[in-house]
Amino acid sequence: MKVFNLCCAGGHGFEGWFASEDAFAEQIDRGLVECPMCADRTIQRLPSAPRLNLSGARDAEPAPAVPPAEAQRLQAMWLQAVQHVLRNTEDVGQRFPEEARRIHYGETERRGIRGQASADERAELAEEGIEVVPLPVPAGFEGPAH
Ligand SMILES: [Zn+2]
Repeated sequence: MKVFNLCCAGGHGFEGWFASEDAFAEQIDRGLVECPMCADRTIQRLPSAPRLNLSGARDAEPAPAVPPAEAQRLQAMWLQAVQHVLRNTEDVGQRFPEEARRIHYGETERRGIRGQASADERAELAEEGIEVVPLPVPAGFEGPAH
């Protein structure tokens, strides 16, 4: 038997007892679960632990604007994106504007590159129709070895 904390569209909280997670999903699908207070059938399941995101935080403390778990998730996504770029591009360092041009004009193999370019250099590249995406990499971030 599983006990789920449920909530209807009208904001009534109640507990539902189900044989299993699947039984719960099926009954929701078929509209068999209704609010005991208003018979509403738009039922949402609430997290079973009342304070999932606030481990260690005291009850009296107001929740931060971005819950720590959410901030961590966003940071993890960001680091993944950075790693993806580092893994899939060649570091050409200061030669970046030159290499970007050579690739653009078909003088060298087409591939993803990364490197340093000043704002002026980026503007020049943009004028030539060469797309450059600035990607600030966190200080001290170590990419995979090349
Ligand atoms: Zn209700």
